[in-house]
Amino acid sequence: MSEKPTVEEYLKNIEEGKFRAYSCVDCGKVIAPPSGACYGCGGNNMKWTDVSGKGKLVSFTVIHIAPDEFADEAPYFIAIVELAEGTRISSRLLGFDPLKPEDVKLGTPLILDYEKGKSGKTYLAFKPE
Ligand SMILES: [Zn+2]
Repeated sequence: MSEKPTVEEYLKNIEEGKFRAYSCVDCGKVIAPPSGACYGCGGNNMKWTDVSGKGKLVSFTVIHIAPDEFADEAPYFIAIVELAEGTRISSRLLGFDPLKPEDVKLGTPLILDYEKGKSGKTYLAFKPE
């Protein structure tokens, strides 16, 4: 296994329920999803890092009309989650009814989870803590 993080490995980790992020060797910034360069210093010297799996809800939307691949799964939430480590990622949001988005409160503390889609794929997901 190579030390340099790759997108393939990032996705494989999610598929296996082992979400990990990158951290910048030069400035320590935590990054996910994979990016060619550090958001903090522009460097490209990355290594894998474990994250707490805690975060909070920053934004969300309900997908009613999904791309073909996910059509059977609609409606579902896509959330922007700010991890405790400071980086923002998009993920599925569990624990709420997509038909009652008014029940969802921004700032809700969330914890890492995974969702097995009807396609058999595993998605990164968060649910209320
Ligand atoms: Zn950096």
